[in-house]
Amino acid sequence: MDFALSDEQEQFRKMVHDWVEKECPKDVARDLEAKEFEYPFELWDKMSAAGFHAIGLPEELGGQGGDVITQMILTRELARSLSGLTWIFGISSFCAKSIVKFAKESVKEDLVPKMAAGDVRVAIAVTEPSAGTDVLGGMKTKAKKVDGGWSITGQKIWSTAAHVSDYLFLMARTEDSPDKAARGITLFLVPNPAEGLETRQIPKVGMKAVGSCEVFLDEVFVPDEYVVGEEGRGFYQMLSTLNNERIMVGALCTGIIDGVLEDAIQYMGEREAFGKKIGSFQILQHYVAEMSMWQKQAELIMYYAAWKSEQGEDCGREANMAKILASEYAGKAADLGIQILGGMGYALETNAQRYWRDARLYRIGPITNEMARNSIAESYGLPRSF
Ligand SMILES: Cc1cc2nc3c(=O)[nH]c(=O)nc-3n(C[C@H](O)[C@H](O)[C@H](O)COP(=O)(O)OP(=O)(O)OC[C@H]3O[C@@H](n4cnc5c(N)ncnc54)[C@H](O)[C@@H]3O)c2cc1C
Repeated sequence: MDFALSDEQEQFRKMVHDWVEKECPKDVARDLEAKEFEYPFELWDKMSAAGFHAIGLPEELGGQGGDVITQMILTRELARSLSGLTWIFGISSFCAKSIVKFAKESVKEDLVPKMAAGDVRVAIAVTEPSAGTDVLGGMKTKAKKVDGGWSITGQKIWSTAAHVSDYLFLMARTEDSPDKAARGITLFLVPNPAEGLETRQIPKVGMKAVGSCEVFLDEVFVPDEYVVGEEGRGFYQMLSTLNNERIMVGALCTGIIDGVLEDAIQYMGEREAFGKKIGSFQILQHYVAEMSMWQKQAELIMYYAAWKSEQGEDCGREANMAKILASEYAGKAADLGIQILGGMGYALETNAQRYWRDARLYRIGPITNEMARNSIAESYGLPRSF
């Protein structure tokens, strides 16, 4: 049993840590996030220059390689400062990995090197107004076969960064009455902009600046080559990529706990009350102890899920556990982080509120913690509860 990062992993962690301190420390992240509807293009470009978009992608397609653990280290270190803004890296990374796995060779060879270089962005467009958790039961977006491609009509919601993405990684129904709801669904890369395609940002509580959008599609043409994977098998393909996404959400939330803890300890060493530093009060020390235990638990389950994934073992249960535990601990830690800062914790000029607003999302998306708990229970052979 070995709990330590390898020398190489530790060097990489330190490199990302130093990069974050130089390029996007917490005050920069806070200013970027405060501009709700302004996508942080400069931050994206800095990530491109650092080669971060290439991590986890195959070298023969312009990537830098790197396993799940490397991606997890990157995500966690970014989130320590960037919190929800980290997702600008996460979304494209998720889409690129799916394109590598399922897209046609010509599309892969064209798009993946551009994505690795940060020249192309792709957003996920799965959720619909009537289809969130019940994505199969509620999905109404349809793709109809036409000459040379497909015509897509429908509506998506919450597609993050859709307004600034060159393609939407979109799921649509291609068969009206399949024998099983999971069949007859196909994945497409929808070029953006396109005739009949409109995006509109939704004002939201946290993860601002990244922009989460409603997407309206009215007979949008998608060429045949942009069908991703096998026609009618899109849902199954998507399922095979979700563990990785959950582990990355776990890493992002663990990074949030790192940031909260760091700020709390710093403030406890500066702020005075009753003639002493507030860090000497036992109850605040206990808050730190709680946060530290949550941090360690989130880290351990995340490493374990990533390690299982790297061994090629089924890590579905552990990936769900990592996502649930880290998101819930991040929310609790950020809440205590605000408490430790007192009134300043409630001020927009400090970070705890940003971590708190961002952490709240990860109990909802990309899968709700209720649904993730359902999956864990079912993995023990218990009957489906819905
Ligand atoms: C900021 C933000 C960014 C997002 N980004 C993206 C994105 O980029 N692309 C994308 O496609 N989607 C995105 N999403 C959508 C996200 O994945 C969905 O919000 C999530 O899957 C939940 O779906 P819903 O919102 O429709 O909730 P609902 O499905 O309506 O759920 C409502 C409540 O019912 C509960 N519930 C539903 N079914 C069950 C059940 N069987 N058992 C127990 N409880 C149940 C849920 O857990 C929840 O508490 C984003 C969402 C947000 C808020």
